[in-house]
Amino acid sequence: MNLGFLEKAPFVNLLATYTSTLNPGFVLFGHGVTKNIIDTDIQRIQLHNNDFVKAIEFLEKLNFRFISMEQFQEIAALKIKPNYPWVHLTFDDGYKNNLTELYPYLKQKQIPFTIFISINHIVSNKRFDHYLIAAAIKHTKQNQTLTEIAGSLGITNNDRSALINLIIRKYKYISVEEKNAILPTICNLLDSYEWEYYNRIYESEDVLSVDDLKLLAADPLVHIGSHGYNHYIQTTLTENERMLELQQSYNLLEQLLEKQQTTFCYQNGGINDFSAQTKLSCQKANYKFCFTTIARKWEPNTDLMEIPRFPFTHSYLPQLILKAPFS
Ligand SMILES: [Zn+2]
Repeated sequence: MNLGFLEKAPFVNLLATYTSTLNPGFVLFGHGVTKNIIDTDIQRIQLHNNDFVKAIEFLEKLNFRFISMEQFQEIAALKIKPNYPWVHLTFDDGYKNNLTELYPYLKQKQIPFTIFISINHIVSNKRFDHYLIAAAIKHTKQNQTLTEIAGSLGITNNDRSALINLIIRKYKYISVEEKNAILPTICNLLDSYEWEYYNRIYESEDVLSVDDLKLLAADPLVHIGSHGYNHYIQTTLTENERMLELQQSYNLLEQLLEKQQTTFCYQNGGINDFSAQTKLSCQKANYKFCFTTIARKWEPNTDLMEIPRFPFTHSYLPQLILKAPFS
Protein backbone atom coordinates (compact mmCIF):
# COMPACT_ATOMS: atom_id res chain seq x y z
CA MET A 1 0.00 0.00 0.00
CA ASN A 2 1.29 3.49 -0.89
CA LEU A 3 1.27 5.49 2.33
CA GLY A 4 2.69 8.68 0.72
CA PHE A 5 -0.54 10.58 1.46
CA LEU A 6 0.25 10.28 5.16
CA GLU A 7 2.97 12.91 4.70
CA LYS A 8 0.87 15.37 2.65
CA ALA A 9 -0.33 18.66 4.17
CA PRO A 10 -4.10 17.97 4.30
CA PHE A 11 -3.59 14.70 6.13
CA VAL A 12 -0.93 16.14 8.45
CA ASN A 13 -3.27 19.04 9.34
CA LEU A 14 -6.08 16.60 10.03
CA LEU A 15 -3.77 14.51 12.19
CA ALA A 16 -2.59 17.64 14.07
CA THR A 17 -6.20 18.49 14.98
CA TYR A 18 -6.70 14.95 16.11
CA THR A 19 -3.54 14.79 18.27
CA SER A 20 -4.31 18.16 19.89
CA THR A 21 -7.73 16.81 20.89
CA LEU A 22 -6.71 13.35 22.13
CA ASN A 23 -3.22 14.22 23.42
CA PRO A 24 -1.61 10.82 22.85
CA GLY A 25 1.74 10.14 24.48
CA PHE A 26 4.34 7.49 23.90
CA VAL A 27 7.93 6.41 24.36
CA LEU A 28 9.75 5.59 21.12
CA PHE A 29 12.81 3.36 20.79
CA GLY A 30 15.60 3.07 18.26
CA HIS A 31 19.25 1.96 18.30
CA GLY A 32 21.85 3.55 16.02
CA VAL A 33 21.41 6.31 13.43
CA THR A 34 23.72 6.40 10.41
CA LYS A 35 24.14 7.86 6.90
CA ASN A 36 25.94 4.73 5.83
CA ILE A 37 23.75 1.65 5.41
CA ILE A 38 25.39 -0.90 3.11
CA ASP A 39 23.91 -4.21 4.19
CA THR A 40 20.75 -4.54 6.27
CA ASP A 41 21.54 -8.22 7.05
CA ILE A 42 24.46 -6.88 9.09
CA GLN A 43 23.44 -3.35 10.10
CA ARG A 44 20.25 -4.89 11.40
CA ILE A 45 19.00 -2.22 13.76
CA GLN A 46 20.45 0.98 12.33
CA LEU A 47 18.09 3.75 11.25
CA HIS A 48 19.04 5.90 8.26
CA ASN A 49 19.66 9.57 9.14
CA ASN A 50 17.11 10.76 6.58
CA ASP A 51 14.38 8.60 8.06
CA PHE A 52 15.28 9.77 11.53
CA VAL A 53 15.12 13.46 10.56
CA LYS A 54 11.82 12.91 8.72
CA ALA A 55 10.35 11.28 11.83
CA ILE A 56 11.39 14.16 14.09
CA GLU A 57 10.02 16.75 11.63
CA PHE A 58 6.76 14.83 11.39
CA LEU A 59 6.34 14.84 15.17
CA GLU A 60 7.14 18.57 15.23
CA LYS A 61 4.45 19.28 12.64
CA LEU A 62 1.96 17.53 14.90
CA ASN A 63 3.01 19.70 17.85
CA PHE A 64 4.31 16.80 19.91
CA ARG A 65 6.31 17.89 22.94
CA PHE A 66 9.63 16.10 23.28
CA ILE A 67 9.76 15.47 27.00
CA SER A 68 12.80 14.45 29.04
CA MET A 69 13.15 11.25 31.05
CA GLU A 70 12.63 13.31 34.22
CA GLN A 71 9.36 14.71 32.86
CA PHE A 72 8.30 11.24 31.78
CA GLN A 73 9.02 9.88 35.27
CA GLU A 74 6.94 12.67 36.79
CA ILE A 75 4.00 11.86 34.50
CA ALA A 76 4.40 8.16 35.26
CA ALA A 77 4.80 8.52 39.02
CA LEU A 78 1.90 10.96 39.38
CA LYS A 79 -0.26 8.77 37.11
CA ILE A 80 -1.52 11.78 35.17
CA LYS A 81 -2.46 12.28 31.54
CA PRO A 82 -0.88 15.50 30.20
CA ASN A 83 -3.12 17.88 28.25
CA TYR A 84 -0.70 17.95 25.32
CA PRO A 85 0.66 15.31 22.92
CA TRP A 86 4.06 14.08 24.14
CA VAL A 87 6.84 11.75 23.12
CA HIS A 88 10.06 10.60 24.75
CA LEU A 89 12.93 9.31 22.58
CA THR A 90 15.06 6.35 23.71
CA PHE A 91 17.98 4.59 21.98
CA ASP A 92 19.22 1.18 23.10
CA ASP A 93 22.66 -0.46 23.41
CA GLY A 94 25.06 2.53 23.19
CA TYR A 95 26.24 2.98 19.59
CA LYS A 96 29.03 5.44 18.82
CA ASN A 97 26.78 7.16 16.29
CA ASN A 98 24.50 8.18 19.17
CA LEU A 99 27.26 10.69 19.92
CA THR A 100 28.40 11.50 16.38
CA GLU A 101 25.05 11.57 14.50
CA LEU A 102 22.17 11.68 16.95
CA TYR A 103 23.49 14.04 19.59
CA PRO A 104 24.51 17.03 17.40
CA TYR A 105 21.10 17.00 15.69
CA LEU A 106 19.04 16.66 18.89
CA LYS A 107 21.27 19.11 20.77
CA GLN A 108 20.76 21.78 18.13
CA LYS A 109 17.00 21.25 18.46
CA GLN A 110 17.21 21.02 22.27
CA ILE A 111 15.39 17.68 22.21
CA PRO A 112 16.05 15.52 25.30
CA PHE A 113 16.63 11.78 24.89
CA THR A 114 17.66 8.60 26.71
CA ILE A 115 20.38 6.08 25.89
CA PHE A 116 20.15 2.64 27.50
CA ILE A 117 23.70 1.33 27.86
CA SER A 118 24.96 -2.26 27.79
CA ILE A 119 27.87 -1.37 30.01
CA ASN A 120 30.33 -4.23 29.45
CA HIS A 121 30.28 -3.52 25.71
CA ILE A 122 31.32 0.06 26.45
CA VAL A 123 34.09 -0.63 28.97
CA SER A 124 35.48 -3.55 26.91
CA ASN A 125 35.00 -1.68 23.60
CA LYS A 126 33.24 -4.76 22.25
CA ARG A 127 30.76 -4.93 19.40
CA PHE A 128 27.46 -6.78 19.86
CA ASP A 129 27.22 -10.52 19.20
CA HIS A 130 24.50 -10.06 16.56
CA TYR A 131 26.96 -8.01 14.48
CA LEU A 132 29.79 -10.54 14.89
CA ILE A 133 27.48 -13.40 13.91
CA ALA A 134 25.95 -11.58 10.93
CA ALA A 135 29.28 -10.33 9.51
CA ALA A 136 30.97 -13.72 9.96
CA ILE A 137 28.16 -15.65 8.27
CA LYS A 138 27.72 -13.15 5.44
CA HIS A 139 31.37 -12.88 4.48
CA THR A 140 33.06 -16.18 5.37
CA LYS A 141 34.68 -18.27 2.66
CA GLN A 142 34.64 -21.36 4.92
CA ASN A 143 31.42 -22.95 3.62
CA GLN A 144 32.01 -26.35 5.20
CA THR A 145 32.62 -24.94 8.71
CA LEU A 146 29.59 -22.68 8.38
CA THR A 147 27.38 -25.67 7.52
CA GLU A 148 28.77 -27.54 10.54
CA ILE A 149 28.10 -24.62 12.91
CA ALA A 150 24.54 -24.26 11.63
CA GLY A 151 24.06 -28.03 11.92
CA SER A 152 25.20 -27.99 15.56
CA LEU A 153 22.34 -25.55 16.23
CA GLY A 154 19.90 -27.76 14.31
CA ILE A 155 19.71 -25.35 11.36
CA THR A 156 20.02 -26.29 7.69
CA ASN A 157 19.76 -23.50 5.14
CA ASN A 158 21.98 -22.48 2.25
CA ASP A 159 20.77 -18.90 1.96
CA ARG A 160 23.14 -16.67 3.93
CA SER A 161 20.54 -14.01 4.81
CA ALA A 162 18.15 -16.66 6.10
CA LEU A 163 20.97 -18.36 7.97
CA ILE A 164 21.89 -15.09 9.73
CA ASN A 165 18.30 -14.62 10.90
CA LEU A 166 17.90 -18.23 12.04
CA ILE A 167 21.22 -18.38 13.89
CA ILE A 168 20.76 -15.02 15.63
CA ARG A 169 17.24 -15.94 16.70
CA LYS A 170 18.49 -19.26 18.14
CA TYR A 171 21.63 -17.74 19.70
CA LYS A 172 19.68 -15.09 21.65
CA TYR A 173 17.94 -17.76 23.73
CA ILE A 174 20.69 -20.31 24.43
CA SER A 175 22.45 -20.35 27.82
CA VAL A 176 25.54 -18.26 28.61
CA GLU A 177 27.62 -21.45 28.63
CA GLU A 178 26.42 -22.42 25.15
CA LYS A 179 26.99 -18.86 23.90
CA ASN A 180 30.58 -18.89 25.19
CA ALA A 181 31.16 -22.24 23.48
CA ILE A 182 29.86 -21.30 20.04
CA LEU A 183 30.76 -17.60 19.59
CA PRO A 184 34.55 -18.07 19.17
CA THR A 185 33.89 -20.73 16.48
CA ILE A 186 31.61 -18.32 14.63
CA CYS A 187 34.16 -15.47 14.94
CA ASN A 188 36.86 -17.76 13.49
CA LEU A 189 34.89 -17.85 10.23
CA LEU A 190 36.79 -14.64 9.39
CA ASP A 191 40.53 -14.06 9.92
CA SER A 192 41.94 -10.96 11.63
CA TYR A 193 42.51 -9.10 8.34
CA GLU A 194 38.93 -9.77 7.28
CA TRP A 195 37.62 -8.56 10.65
CA GLU A 196 39.66 -5.39 10.41
CA TYR A 197 38.31 -4.76 6.92
CA TYR A 198 34.65 -5.44 7.74
CA ASN A 199 34.73 -3.55 11.05
CA ARG A 200 35.78 -0.52 9.07
CA ILE A 201 33.09 -1.02 6.42
CA TYR A 202 30.39 -1.46 9.07
CA GLU A 203 31.54 1.33 11.36
CA SER A 204 27.90 2.00 12.33
CA GLU A 205 28.21 -1.04 14.65
CA ASP A 206 30.94 0.62 16.71
CA VAL A 207 30.06 1.33 20.36
CA LEU A 208 30.62 4.39 22.54
CA SER A 209 33.85 4.67 24.51
CA VAL A 210 33.82 5.41 28.25
CA ASP A 211 34.85 9.02 27.48
CA ASP A 212 32.02 9.32 24.93
CA LEU A 213 29.60 8.06 27.56
CA LYS A 214 30.80 10.57 30.15
CA LEU A 215 30.57 13.39 27.62
CA LEU A 216 26.95 12.53 26.82
CA ALA A 217 26.01 12.01 30.46
CA ALA A 218 27.34 15.47 31.36
CA ASP A 219 24.65 17.12 29.21
CA PRO A 220 21.31 17.55 31.03
CA LEU A 221 19.54 16.82 27.72
CA VAL A 222 20.78 13.23 27.85
CA HIS A 223 19.59 10.59 30.29
CA ILE A 224 21.68 7.44 30.61
CA GLY A 225 19.85 4.29 31.74
CA SER A 226 20.97 0.70 32.18
CA HIS A 227 20.58 -2.02 29.56
CA GLY A 228 22.41 -4.63 31.64
CA TYR A 229 26.00 -5.83 31.75
CA ASN A 230 26.36 -8.32 28.87
CA HIS A 231 23.06 -7.81 27.04
CA TYR A 232 21.85 -11.31 27.98
CA ILE A 233 18.08 -11.74 27.81
CA GLN A 234 16.86 -11.89 31.42
CA THR A 235 14.70 -14.99 31.05
CA THR A 236 17.67 -17.04 29.72
CA LEU A 237 19.56 -16.54 33.00
CA THR A 238 19.33 -18.27 36.37
CA GLU A 239 18.32 -16.02 39.27
CA ASN A 240 21.95 -15.82 40.46
CA GLU A 241 23.28 -14.98 37.00
CA ARG A 242 20.57 -12.36 36.60
CA MET A 243 21.27 -10.65 39.93
CA LEU A 244 24.99 -10.62 39.18
CA GLU A 245 24.42 -9.01 35.78
CA LEU A 246 22.06 -6.43 37.28
CA GLN A 247 24.35 -5.56 40.17
CA GLN A 248 27.49 -5.42 38.03
CA SER A 249 25.82 -3.04 35.57
CA TYR A 250 24.30 -0.93 38.35
CA ASN A 251 27.60 -0.58 40.22
CA LEU A 252 29.74 0.10 37.18
CA LEU A 253 27.39 2.72 35.74
CA GLU A 254 27.04 4.37 39.15
CA GLN A 255 30.81 4.47 39.51
CA LEU A 256 31.39 5.90 36.03
CA LEU A 257 28.63 8.50 36.11
CA GLU A 258 28.65 9.18 39.86
CA LYS A 259 24.88 8.95 39.86
CA GLN A 260 22.31 6.45 41.13
CA GLN A 261 20.00 5.00 38.53
CA THR A 262 16.35 4.14 38.46
CA THR A 263 15.83 3.28 34.78
CA PHE A 264 16.40 -0.07 33.09
CA CYS A 265 15.62 -1.42 29.64
CA TYR A 266 15.00 -5.17 29.17
CA GLN A 267 17.28 -6.86 26.62
CA ASN A 268 15.20 -7.61 23.52
CA GLY A 269 12.22 -6.41 25.59
CA GLY A 270 9.52 -8.65 24.09
CA ILE A 271 6.79 -10.51 25.95
CA ASN A 272 9.03 -13.59 26.51
CA ASP A 273 12.10 -11.58 27.53
CA PHE A 274 10.99 -10.64 31.04
CA SER A 275 8.68 -12.17 33.65
CA ALA A 276 7.26 -11.63 37.14
CA GLN A 277 10.52 -13.10 38.48
CA THR A 278 12.81 -10.90 36.41
CA LYS A 279 10.75 -7.84 37.38
CA LEU A 280 11.39 -8.73 41.01
CA SER A 281 15.14 -9.04 40.32
CA CYS A 282 15.11 -5.55 38.76
CA GLN A 283 13.26 -4.15 41.77
CA LYS A 284 15.85 -5.73 44.09
CA ALA A 285 18.57 -4.06 42.02
CA ASN A 286 16.92 -0.65 42.66
CA TYR A 287 15.31 -0.07 39.27
CA LYS A 288 11.95 1.71 39.39
CA PHE A 289 11.20 2.31 35.70
CA CYS A 290 11.69 -0.67 33.35
CA PHE A 291 11.15 -0.35 29.60
CA THR A 292 9.98 -3.05 27.16
CA THR A 293 9.67 -3.17 23.37
CA ILE A 294 5.99 -4.03 23.62
CA ALA A 295 3.91 -1.64 21.51
CA ARG A 296 1.01 -0.90 23.80
CA LYS A 297 -0.90 2.26 24.65
CA TRP A 298 0.43 4.37 27.54
CA GLU A 299 -2.10 4.64 30.38
CA PRO A 300 -1.72 6.54 33.66
CA ASN A 301 -1.99 3.20 35.51
CA THR A 302 0.64 1.43 33.36
CA ASP A 303 2.91 -0.94 35.36
CA LEU A 304 6.18 0.97 35.72
CA MET A 305 8.12 -2.32 35.52
CA GLU A 306 6.57 -2.90 32.04
CA ILE A 307 6.65 0.44 30.26
CA PRO A 308 5.58 0.08 26.61
CA ARG A 309 7.62 1.54 23.74
CA PHE A 310 7.01 1.87 19.99
CA PRO A 311 9.71 1.39 17.33
CA PHE A 312 11.15 4.56 15.88
CA THR A 313 10.45 4.24 12.17
CA HIS A 314 9.19 7.09 10.09
CA SER A 315 6.84 5.05 7.92
CA TYR A 316 5.17 3.66 11.01
CA LEU A 317 4.61 6.96 12.85
CA PRO A 318 1.39 8.20 11.17
CA GLN A 319 -0.25 4.82 11.69
CA LEU A 320 1.04 4.70 15.24
CA ILE A 321 -0.38 8.12 16.05
CA LEU A 322 -3.76 7.12 14.63
CA LYS A 323 -3.83 3.83 16.49
CA ALA A 324 -2.08 4.65 19.77
CA PRO A 325 -4.97 6.22 21.67
CA PHE A 326 -7.16 3.18 20.94
CA SER A 327 -4.71 0.23 20.94
ZN1 LIG B 1 19.50 -4.05 23.18
